Amino acid sequence: MSRFPVKLVYSDKATLPLGDHVFHSGKYRRIRECLLRSGAYTEDDFISAPPCEERDLLLVHTQLWIDKLKHGALSTREELELEVPYSKELVAAFWLMASGSVVAAQQALLSGCCVHIGGGFHHAFTDHGEGFCLINDIAVAIRRVQRDGHIARAMVIDCDVHQGNGTAAIFGAGAGKPFPSAPWSASVQPPKRVANVTTSACKDVFTVSLHQESNYPYIKPPSSIDVNLPDGTTDMEYLEWLGFALENACAHFEPELICYVAGADPYAGDQLGGLGMTIQGLKERDLMVYNFARDHGFPIMTTLAGGYAENPEDTVTIHVNTALAAKEVFG
Ligand SMILES: [Zn+2]
Repeated sequence: MSRFPVKLVYSDKATLPLGDHVFHSGKYRRIRECLLRSGAYTEDDFISAPPCEERDLLLVHTQLWIDKLKHGALSTREELELEVPYSKELVAAFWLMASGSVVAAQQALLSGCCVHIGGGFHHAFTDHGEGFCLINDIAVAIRRVQRDGHIARAMVIDCDVHQGNGTAAIFGAGAGKPFPSAPWSASVQPPKRVANVTTSACKDVFTVSLHQESNYPYIKPPSSIDVNLPDGTTDMEYLEWLGFALENACAHFEPELICYVAGADPYAGDQLGGLGMTIQGLKERDLMVYNFARDHGFPIMTTLAGGYAENPEDTVTIHVNTALAAKEVFG
């Protein structure tokens, strides 16, 4: 066993009260059960997070947005944009999701790798939520470890099928010149089908997003690297583009922490996704990201993000594989 075994952040209380919704939030409990049954993780590997402090949320979000969430003062339009039913219980769960990601980032900086069995709410902006996301836990985690002086620079690698619009907007540099893409190296050949790749200048957080171009969100604020993938992208194509993006990212930026957003929704059987990946291909994606982090010595924390498979057990399997891949690479 490694000197620093991979830890998993989990809270029973972070279950989102959504009722009969395409987002099966019961998945988190199932993932925990499956990981324990697999024998790869034991009860001792699970750690919990304390309640989130409001001042951590304010590192990213406006006071007005936090107050609206706390007091149930959203406008009808703001509530509709969430696409989940507002409740005080939902807000409490999002507070816990944010602190879970803070703990995952802190733990990754201590031990190299940590997986949050939750989080990845990348559609939340500073002043509003959308697409099932109220609080951007990824951004809160990064800003908290920066504020504590643990790191200066972080990289987000977002592999959810939907572009990480909230994260891109929060960390976007605005003005600045895009950098040129590094040429393909001898070891990596461009896929035959073209993805629309765009780049943008960054400040202290470099954001990479691989997503389906024709899917939500239809307005995509620029990430540092956006790989806009065509419908039906296969495992092989996806992994080639991921290799390209990672190579380009580390040619331009040296992070002290990676935040991996391991969405299960690039899966071919996903109801809200239109890519063509298999469960095995998604595990290879996870292994590629973890090997990239380990080989470069970058600490990595993972959030699970979306997953809406026709068969909910497929979503659970994909997320379980993400935690198993972490264990395979980091021990
Ligand atoms: Zn998604």
